[in-house]
Amino acid sequence: MSTPYHRVLLKLSGEVFGGGGVGVDPHVVDTKAKEIAEVVAGGTQVSIVVGGGNFFRGAELQQSGMDRDRADYMGMLGTVMNCLALQDFLEKTGTPTRVQTAIHMAQVAEPYIPRRAERHMEKGRVVIFGAGSGMPYFSTDTVAAQRALEIGADALLMGKQGVDGVYDRDPAKDSSATKFDDLTYDEFLARDLKVADATAVAMARDNDLRMIFFNLETPGNIGRVVNGEPIGTTVH
Ligand code: UDP
Repeated sequence: MSTPYHRVLLKLSGEVFGGGGVGVDPHVVDTKAKEIAEVVAGGTQVSIVVGGGNFFRGAELQQSGMDRDRADYMGMLGTVMNCLALQDFLEKTGTPTRVQTAIHMAQVAEPYIPRRAERHMEKGRVVIFGAGSGMPYFSTDTVAAQRALEIGADALLMGKQGVDGVYDRDPAKDSSATKFDDLTYDEFLARDLKVADATAVAMARDNDLRMIFFNLETPGNIGRVVNGEPIGTTVH
């Protein structure tokens, strides 16, 4: 089956990597790596932004008294550990990968060079972007939108933990919350929905980048969303 997308950017929330806890759950990363490998074998070019919420979130560390900037750098470094774990499991499937980071760390990753990232994808390599934007006060959602635009992805696929799309209220707190199948960028922003960063959604809106929110925990969902199956919520 041919897929509707030539090139995608997949945003994987850090929470999923931790299997709901702190650190990396190897079984979860292995499972997701196998799903991604299948998508690449099917001919779709894949790049990935991995979050770091399973290690640190700057805003949370700030609550415990840390300086926000330094806490955000810790958050960014956490994303790199997720990148290396994903790289390892992807390469075990035989899928070539490259990690590119926004903070230079030559022993473990290439620097972020968008043209080179595109070239890697053309050669069938998965490019995993780490260390966020390299700048405090940003989120990996915003970085995912920026990278998707810069490398010319056809869609931004937002893999989430514990939720299968965008709801009008937080479904974890309110059982009467209703899921949207489709939503405009402006409606998303007007409702102040928290499932993604408003900056990411505004950037997607201004540049006409389709975002699809889906449950990353459900086995096979990465393949489904890449194949254009109507799962989750499309924001466009
Ligand atoms: N972060 C940052 N700048 C960036 C991206 C991330 O400072 O460009 C920090 C921020 O502290 C954030 C943490 O890294 O809380 C982890 O990223 P995020 O919360 O987006 O991860 P996710 O929720 O997707 O797992």
